[in-house]
This record gives sequence, C-alpha cells and structure tokens, in this order.
Amino acid sequence: MAVTRADVVVLGGGFAGLSCATALAERGARVVVLEKKPHLGGRAYSFHDPRAQETVDNGQHLFMACYRETLRFLERIGTRDKIRFSENARVAYADASGRRTLLDCPAWPAPFNLAAGVARLGGLSWGDRFGLWRLGAWFRQNGAGPLPAELDRLSVRAWLDGLGQSRRLQERLFEPIAIGALNERPERASALGLAQVLREVFFGDPGASRLGVATVGLSELYAGQARAFVEARGGRVVTGARSTSVSVDGGARVDTERSGRFEAEAVVSALPPNALASLELPPGVRGRWDGLAFAPIVGINLWLDRPVFEGPLLGLLGTEVHWAFNKNDLWDKRGDGQYLSLVISGAHAHVEKSPSELFELASGDLARCLPEFSRARVLRWTVVKEPQATISPVPGSDALRPGFATASPRFFLAGDWTQTGLPATIESAVASGHSCAALIAHLEMKKATLES
Ligand SMILES: Cc1cc2nc3c(=O)[nH]c(=O)nc-3n(C[C@H](O)[C@H](O)[C@H](O)COP(=O)(O)OP(=O)(O)OC[C@H]3O[C@@H](n4cnc5c(N)ncnc54)[C@H](O)[C@@H]3O)c2cc1C
Repeated sequence: MAVTRADVVVLGGGFAGLSCATALAERGARVVVLEKKPHLGGRAYSFHDPRAQETVDNGQHLFMACYRETLRFLERIGTRDKIRFSENARVAYADASGRRTLLDCPAWPAPFNLAAGVARLGGLSWGDRFGLWRLGAWFRQNGAGPLPAELDRLSVRAWLDGLGQSRRLQERLFEPIAIGALNERPERASALGLAQVLREVFFGDPGASRLGVATVGLSELYAGQARAFVEARGGRVVTGARSTSVSVDGGARVDTERSGRFEAEAVVSALPPNALASLELPPGVRGRWDGLAFAPIVGINLWLDRPVFEGPLLGLLGTEVHWAFNKNDLWDKRGDGQYLSLVISGAHAHVEKSPSELFELASGDLARCLPEFSRARVLRWTVVKEPQATISPVPGSDALRPGFATASPRFFLAGDWTQTGLPATIESAVASGHSCAALIAHLEMKKATLES
C-alpha cells in the first residue's frame, strides 16, 4: 500500500478543511487535504451548467461584514476583493400582495441602527416598533460572555413572543434573519442561534450587519486558490480520496478507499457529522453529536428574457421562496435578460417535490410579489436541492455540538457544526478550521517529508 507522510492530514475540502489547511501551511506545516469528491468546496461550490452556458452555485450564499474569520481566510488566499459589501444593512422586500418596503439600517451603534431601520420599514405600527427597546434592554444585559443556556431550550418564536416582539415585527424583521441564518423556521429553530446572530450583527460593531455577496462563482472564490496556496507550500490536495479510518496509536494514520495510507503528526476531520460517523475512529471520539439532524435548502435558478427587479437581492415576505438574488447585479453581467437565484431555506416541506413542482411554486411566488414577473418569459430554469444543507438547529441541538479537541490529542474536529458559538454557517466552518490550526500549532511537530 502506498504511504504518504505529512505534518497534518485534513479530511474534507470545504470551507472548514481549506481554511484549516491554509492556516497550517502559512505556519510552515506540510499538509495533505483528502476530499472524497472529484471537486473541492463541499456544501459551497459552483459548477458549469452546459445547458445554461453559465456558472451556477449549488445554492446562493450570503456573507456578512462580521464574518471576520472568513475574510481573514480569503485575505490569506488573495480573494478578499471578490466579496462585495453593501454600504448599510440594506434589504429590499416585496410581499405577497406586491407591496415593496426597505430595511435600511445605518452603521450606527445599537440600538439606533435597528431603530432607524425599522422606523422606515413598512407594514408596522409604532407599537410594533416599540418592542425593539425591550430587545435592546435584553442585549444590554447579555452583551458579553456566554448567552443564557436556557435559550437553547426555547424556539425562536417562544423567545421573541416572551420578549414582547409583535408578530408583525417578527414577520418583517426577525423571521427573514432567522430563516436565513439558521435554516429553520422560527417554530423549529432554537432561540440560541438567533440571539448569537443578533448580538454579533446588530449589537456588536457598527457596520457588522453589512451584507456581502461573492462577485464570482463560489469555487472561484476559494477552492482553486486555497489548493494553490497549500501546494505552493509543499502540501497536497487530493480529490477523489475518501477516507475510511483514522487511528492515532503512536503517530496519526488515515486510510482511504483508493488513495492509500497517510501518516502524520495530527489529523483534522473537517467532515459533516454523518460522514465522520461512518469512519472507523479512535476510541472516545464518538459522542452525542451522532444525534444531530439536518435541514434542507432548495435553490431554483431562472433565466428570464427581461429584468423583473433591480439591486442585488430581494427578500420575499409571506411566500415559500425566501430570497431572490439578481445574479446580473452580483456578477456584473450585461444583457437584456436576468438570471435569478431563488432560495427556500428550512425546506423540509419542499425537498421531496419534483423540479417542475418547485418551478411552479417559485413562479407563483414571484408573480404575486413582482407584477413585472408576469410579463417576463422564462427562458430556462434549473433546481438544485441540498437535503443536508446544514445541521438543524432545533432546541437542544447546541448541547450536541462537540468542541475541537477530542479524547485523542492528535485528532481534532472542525466543521460548521462544531461548537463555535455560531450557527452552522461559512463563518462557523472557517472559525472551526482556524481554531483547529491554532490548537495544532501548539503540538510538537516532527517535520515530515512529503513522499509517496
Ligand atoms: C444551498 C446552501 C446555501 C447556504 N447558504 C449559506 C449562506 O448564505 N451563508 C452562510 O454563511 N452559509 C450558508 N450555507 C452553509 C455553508 O455552505 C456551510 O456552513 C459550509 O459550506 C460548511 O463547510 P464545511 O467545510 O464545514 O463542510 P462541507 O462543505 O460539507 O465540507 C465537508 C467536505 O468533506 C467531504 N467528505 C465527506 N466525507 C468524506 C470522506 N470520508 N473523506 C474525505 N472527504 C469527505 C465532503 O465531500 C465535503 O467536501 C449554505 C449551505 C447550502 C447547502
């Protein structure tokens, strides 16, 4: 059997694995990344759609100015400038009766940022808006340190109701944030994740709430550049290499299905929990994380013969589709038509539907929200389903998320689902990758020679 030696082996080539590998390579470690698929990127990648003659993301991804670890990663690999941020936290909404409104929160200290934003947000009474002061008071009490553990026993809905936030304010302000960041509906999602997001986004640094979009396909944003970064520093990125077991007696060892054996000083798993559970693992690594469940996201891409809205994105209210992204604006594409990327998060009720049913559903929602859509011709459409888009952050799930260190001092866990203090997002994935790299930097590492 071919044996390859390295300093560190990283399992999984998504945001967590690649951020970890590049951080280690930056510190001089020779790293091998093992990715089972033929391409890198995990749950955030793009591909060429030959029918549409277009780059298509596996699902539209939104970034935030408070994604500090992600921006550090992109800076490292030289693609930080491929994320474009809005000036303010500005989101245009259209509701199911065609009414338009705008949430525009200036980069002011809390709670004035939110207060200014909802002052102009339509469909709310002053009584609805006044509820925000109670939320502000709650965050003043819980501004720093760990958030109260009981939040993970409450749903978003129960927490916001308990804080006197009216249903209208919830529908217009908190639900789009909750469903977008947590990938579950407010009745199902734990309040802890929403409190983490609100504290970071609105009650932290002014400006943290600015929205960012990638101006290129997701793979171009990070996958190729991260690979080049690792390989330029003596490492290797092996695709089509499914790891099957990890052992840690003496040194650490990873066996793969078809790519041989890899020996190293340390191993980082940056796999999702179900993939990790299917490996042969060192004793004591298995844990309650085995019980984490998943939530789906459905994406629908439409190519229209004319534009139906302007600006980068539109939040849809009172519909099954949550967001419409205008790829012409995001990717600076010219031409008469419009390429839209639509997102249904927490899509348990939809993921089993056929592509045609999903196309009909999305078309119906757009027609209700955007009168212009009824005049447009759909030239092409595609559907991308991600049944295991993120872990499902239901109450009690946070307690199941493991830390980065394991019972074995040579084996570490990364991934958006680990205990990062954030919902399972890109930022959580990258924060976990960087944390594992920092833990490994403390290990005495014998420099290995990369040889097969
Ligand atoms: C449609 C969609 C939309 C999203 N929107 C957003 C958004 O707007 N903003 C946001 O912040 N987040 C969003 N997310 C979440 C974000 O994509 C994830 O949090 C992030 O990509 C997870 O990265 P990761 O590296 O932890 O895991 P993954 O990307 O899942 O990487 C794990 C890798 O391990 C590989 N692997 C599995 N088993 C093995 C094995 N045995 N051996 C070797 N390799 C293996 C997999 O192929 C995969 O490449 C979205 C997710 C989806 C699916």
